[in-house]
Amino acid sequence: MSNTSIPSTASAPDAPAASSDITGVGVSPGRVIGRVARMAPPVEAPDPAEKAAPGRSIDDEYARITDAAAVVQAELTARAETVSGDARDVLEATALMASDPTLAKAAKKLLDDGRSAERAVWEAGTSIAEQFAALGGYMGERAQDVYDVRARLVAALRGVSAPGLPNPGHPYVLVAVDLAPADTATLDPAQVIALVTSDGGPQSHTAILARALGIPAVVAAPQATTLVDGVEVYVDGTRGRVIPDPSDAERADADLAARQSEALVPFDGTGRLSDGHEVALLANIGGVKDAAAAVDANAQGVGLFRTEFLFLGRDTEPSVEEQVSDYRAVFAAFPGKKVVLRTLDAGADKPLAFLTNDDEPNPALGIRGYRTSLEKRQVLVNQLRAIQTAREAENADVWVMAPMIATADEAADFVGLCREAGLPTNGVMIEVPSAALTAAHIFATADFVSLGTNDLTQYTMAADRQLGSLSALNDPWQPAVLQLVQHVGQAGRAAVSTGASAGSASGVDAGTGAASASATTGKPVGVCGEAAADPALAVVLVGLGVTTLSMTSRAIQAVSTVLRSVTLDEAQTIAAAVVAAPTAADARRIAREHLPILETLGL
Ligand code: PEP
Ligand code: MG
Repeated sequence: MSNTSIPSTASAPDAPAASSDITGVGVSPGRVIGRVARMAPPVEAPDPAEKAAPGRSIDDEYARITDAAAVVQAELTARAETVSGDARDVLEATALMASDPTLAKAAKKLLDDGRSAERAVWEAGTSIAEQFAALGGYMGERAQDVYDVRARLVAALRGVSAPGLPNPGHPYVLVAVDLAPADTATLDPAQVIALVTSDGGPQSHTAILARALGIPAVVAAPQATTLVDGVEVYVDGTRGRVIPDPSDAERADADLAARQSEALVPFDGTGRLSDGHEVALLANIGGVKDAAAAVDANAQGVGLFRTEFLFLGRDTEPSVEEQVSDYRAVFAAFPGKKVVLRTLDAGADKPLAFLTNDDEPNPALGIRGYRTSLEKRQVLVNQLRAIQTAREAENADVWVMAPMIATADEAADFVGLCREAGLPTNGVMIEVPSAALTAAHIFATADFVSLGTNDLTQYTMAADRQLGSLSALNDPWQPAVLQLVQHVGQAGRAAVSTGASAGSASGVDAGTGAASASATTGKPVGVCGEAAADPALAVVLVGLGVTTLSMTSRAIQAVSTVLRSVTLDEAQTIAAAVVAAPTAADARRIAREHLPILETLGL
């Protein structure tokens, strides 16, 4: 496919593309060389009528099942030994389940009528998983593990690769159609040195994960399906190129990239431009583990705490006490620092059984984010109560915001609920074009806003963020998206803080980020979508009036380094030229022409 996102100021190697070269969208920078290992496809259900091969007795089929269980357990145990932390826990727990005789015995009972071992395991696994699911809570969550073991056993019985991540025994370039959040739990960046997917867009889970892990990634590359295991490829995660059988020039370039990444200056904890203008650099987190990474990266706080990640897969609403303990664990990591917590953003690609419907025709346009409170208000009220209790128990500077706000009325309603809960600093995300266009009215009640450029792009361009084939549209460099950001930046600068609505967001001059005595002009405008992690786009966003940037912790160092190469005047000049560009490709080219440091650092 053609790729409008490849910057035309590409650094080496600039050789013309060969016919075997694969192009996609570069979503996480870096250039590396490694061998391909493909993600095995999901295991298909055995036909309900599948019978044991002629001549095989029930005992033979049962022996096949117990042999397969031993193979699966050994495989998982061996893999567990190669990793640590959560990944190890997940693999050890699954290995234990594979060796548990319950499933094999349940399957044995089904072999009586001549069913194949594969079919018997499938049915027994389904029935056990359904029993777990019916129990709900922690036990309910184990249903997924049973499905996983079921699939692994059937793969072993069939003699095909186990589903999920490959294990070639050496670091590799992972090639897949796309990655589901579940696939990513055990993805080890020491093993997976780059990601290439045939589907998935720039804001897909794969792209977000790759940036979080700091590994190069190319998505929406349909030709990736032609790559076979073991072939050596050069992956350029900036330009979206994958080149099989790399030349000497590409090998030299991968070596250069390794040296360039070492040249990045560690972040010292204050985001600023070369003239001293401060732009706080914050982290996006989904829980306490990410909080630790944010602290390690010297992040100035948290600009987006995606609370729904704590509860994905849950059937029931978490209790207020449980929430308090989860929020406190995160707040405790940032004493005296800002933590912007987003209330549950359930729906669309992040369903929560206790909050969202799964039968909507267009989930991205349905009851998601703040809208879930229209039907289930108490869930939001409970969450706000939990946040306030956790806030009072810790020393973080807690700000709260709602996702998927479309109107000023909704913003006022949310801010009102937050105030009733006793929360002092309350804002909304701007991720729907209507909210961007009416930002001035939203600022009448909101203490701050944060631009969710992932959704803002999908809704502005009417392009599903998960769809690789629409990635050229789903691009935050699209001039329409940047014009909306500019509009919100202007509204933020013009917004007036009144004593009544101001929390700790007041007293901060949104233009300089510095404490101000008057506290009357300007309210903070953050960006917490993936756009903030793109060092070139970060400069443009600041030039458009954005006052803070929040991103995956891994990106902070590169964003900080590039921001320090420009003054505010220069950022504004670049932004003015970029926002007037006719296309996303032009916008990108113009920004890169003004930012030679990107080339120097290989970004
Ligand atoms: C966004 O939409 O930009 C955002 C930050 O929210 P999420 O990616 O969680 O939808
Ligand atoms: Mg969003």
